[in-house]
Amino acid sequence: MVANKPSMTRPTVYQFNHGDFVVTNILEGFLLRDDLHPVTGTNASAAEVEAVAEANRIPFPNFEHQFVPTLVDTGEKLIAFDPGFGDKSPQPNAGHYNARLADAGYDREDVDIVVITHCHPDHIANLTHGDGLTFPNAEIVFGEAEFDYWKKGENIPAHRPPTLEMFRKICEPLGEQARFVKPGDEIVSGVTAVEAFGHSAGHMAYHVQSGSNELMIMSDTVAHFAVSIAHPEWKFGMDDDPDTAIVSRQRVLAQVADGKMAAIGFHMPFPSVGYIDRHDGSYVWVPHSYQYNL
Ligand SMILES: [Zn+2]
Repeated sequence: MVANKPSMTRPTVYQFNHGDFVVTNILEGFLLRDDLHPVTGTNASAAEVEAVAEANRIPFPNFEHQFVPTLVDTGEKLIAFDPGFGDKSPQPNAGHYNARLADAGYDREDVDIVVITHCHPDHIANLTHGDGLTFPNAEIVFGEAEFDYWKKGENIPAHRPPTLEMFRKICEPLGEQARFVKPGDEIVSGVTAVEAFGHSAGHMAYHVQSGSNELMIMSDTVAHFAVSIAHPEWKFGMDDDPDTAIVSRQRVLAQVADGKMAAIGFHMPFPSVGYIDRHDGSYVWVPHSYQYNL
């Protein structure tokens, strides 16, 4: 008889070859929530969200909200996308990025470029570590529209004053030395910004191509692997501009599905790599199995 539930063992680093690039996903951590409804569908009923949960064999309304940053190593540059909370995690089960980066075979000093898809706390907090920069040798890249929006600080949604405060503390001082990009701009050859505005004002996805291999880093274009992909028209409670987010979600999902490319989502279940298929007039998440191993 086991008196206590044994502690959970799970993979926390996932690394694979994408053409000539090496891609690494890190489980920065997770948050346990009890509001699958309404957070994944503020314009849907509880019964509608519960039906999607049941069809996907996941509980309702409890769910695990994971944080999964990605690194792309092109052989010339090591690019870290949205490096998580780091030492500023408000969650007991998150904040593991820097330790797990070492498990992936990298040091913080190795990172050449940090790309911020948008300026929400789980994506920007680890730009700084203690009193200094987490990645001392890295160029920081922001979306221009995203940075400008928070810098102006006007029409901030009711749930975002703490985000604005964190932006002012962490991101704004980096503005002097940062690089700013627009949709269509390349970070390095093969890594291109894709407009996915709405989750935040200037939220971006990134298309990663090496040879004929294509991958979309969707970031928070899609919030939940089952609900938000089956119903991209449902409003996600953490989207700052839900109507614009729906338009972007539909466009990016169509691009990934029709392009038959791989996709990574920051909040998809680890290892957070998969494919998007058209299904029943909508979409479905097909998790990666061994495609990249062959
Ligand atoms: Zn997020």
